[in-house]
Amino acid sequence: RAEIHERHQETAEAVVPEQRGCYIGGEWVESDSGETFETRDPTTGDVLAELPSGNAADIDRAVAAAEDAFVDWGDASPSKRQRTLETIADRIRSERTAFARLETLDNGKPINEARADVHLAAEHFRYFAGITRATEGETVPTDGSRRVTTIKEPYGVVGAIIPWNFPLLMAAWKLAPAIAAGNTVVLKPAEQTPLSVLKLMAEIDDVLPDGVINVVTGFGSDAGEPLTTHPDVRKLAFTGSTAIGKQVMKNAAENVTDVTLELGGKNPIVIYPDADLDRAVQTTIFAIFYNTGECCTAGSRLFIHEDIEEEFLNQLATAAEGLTIDDPLLDSTRLGPKVSEEQRERTLGYLDAAREAGASMLTGGGVPDDEALADGCFVTPTIVRDLDHDHPAVQEEIFGPVLEVFSWNEYDDMIELANDVEYGLAAGVVTSDIDQAHRTAADLEAGTIWVNQYNDFPTGMPFGGYKQSGIGRERAQETIEHYTQTKSIDISV
Ligand code: NAD
Repeated sequence: RAEIHERHQETAEAVVPEQRGCYIGGEWVESDSGETFETRDPTTGDVLAELPSGNAADIDRAVAAAEDAFVDWGDASPSKRQRTLETIADRIRSERTAFARLETLDNGKPINEARADVHLAAEHFRYFAGITRATEGETVPTDGSRRVTTIKEPYGVVGAIIPWNFPLLMAAWKLAPAIAAGNTVVLKPAEQTPLSVLKLMAEIDDVLPDGVINVVTGFGSDAGEPLTTHPDVRKLAFTGSTAIGKQVMKNAAENVTDVTLELGGKNPIVIYPDADLDRAVQTTIFAIFYNTGECCTAGSRLFIHEDIEEEFLNQLATAAEGLTIDDPLLDSTRLGPKVSEEQRERTLGYLDAAREAGASMLTGGGVPDDEALADGCFVTPTIVRDLDHDHPAVQEEIFGPVLEVFSWNEYDDMIELANDVEYGLAAGVVTSDIDQAHRTAADLEAGTIWVNQYNDFPTGMPFGGYKQSGIGRERAQETIEHYTQTKSIDISV
């Protein structure tokens, strides 16, 4: 326990950024509220930093700075924007070790997973650097008396709000396409994990013209909501829970503001009896326990064919019990703490409710019995059986390391149940039969289907939700459509 505290304190001294303000118009400033909040290390419970608790006046200032910056940035040449995004990618790469350690401190994710996030964040800027020069309008066929062309123009100020599960990566998903298209941005990071975004702004302060990206730290109700109601924000990009996403959409309606929403998921994994068992086990482990289950894509409902149920579940439970739960700064750790005590309590509350409803735990179901981890928000990897599919723990997103198991034998019944949630973000299929894979992928209602693997995000693969999991697609060429508007120009000749 003392060793973990010491390691975290030393790391915090080395990587927590000195810049602690809101970043508005290229300056580090205090909040108008005069108030601050603390961000804590979920492994030790220690305070990492105190930050300004932003409010509506800060959002006003940040939007004004972004509007000013838009005058030039909206007109900047694609090659200038491309070079800027490439430099941002380079800066992230050159600071990748510090970024990863900072992300692990603030969020609790295992260091290897933080490294992967940082790599993907840099790649994201590089991908959209390329797209800046490939964003083209059209020529519309007409009679000879006119020429109709279209051009793609940025919206202006984008309001971006992100969650705590992939702090730097979610910022990259919003910032890269927005500024690649010529918009300027006001970003509100999650109150639990604001530090990597502040470090990003410190690293790229000299790269961007003032006001192109502005950051207001603080809580959703104080700093997030004013961004969603601001009349000068022309586009809102939100990642977070479906409940808050609905509020964002309602507020956007007041000003007829375009929205991209990346929301929750309660994603099924379907395993066929012909699946390679080892592969099926590894795919399932990765699907549910990656990032401690704090993934919108977490494969949290398992549909296992009854012919292989017993053998598969025995292997799965053994693999889950073999995952190393420990200090997330250690390379060997596979499961870190939840992001906060509040989130741990939420997960444990779902497990209590499941037990009361008669569910049994194949493994896990509580907190680790390890004195060294007693100060952290840890939850053991958990596999739940015998729960009705309409139970809240099955229908709602737990956002923790909790897998619920259902067995199947009739294809149509399985598909009906797999689709019987309000979400439609992602799904997994494990089979060695390609026809079966295609058929199942076609029948599952989800924006991404992974076959024989899970949680893989090749650059350029569109990502977004069906049903209440969201609107719009991120990470891909079509994303630029969400950050531009089309102007038609009709010329008489
Ligand atoms: P959340 O909805 O509580 O908060 C998300 C962000 O919204 C935070 O920055 C928060 O401060 C802000 N916010 C809260 N209330 C607000 C309001 N009234 N107005 C404006 N902003 C407000 O979600 P969370 O708990 O931080 O994150 C977990 C959720 O995010 C999960 O549901 C997860 O599935 C989802 N998520 C989705 C994706 C995706 O791409 N689909 C990716 C990551 C996370």
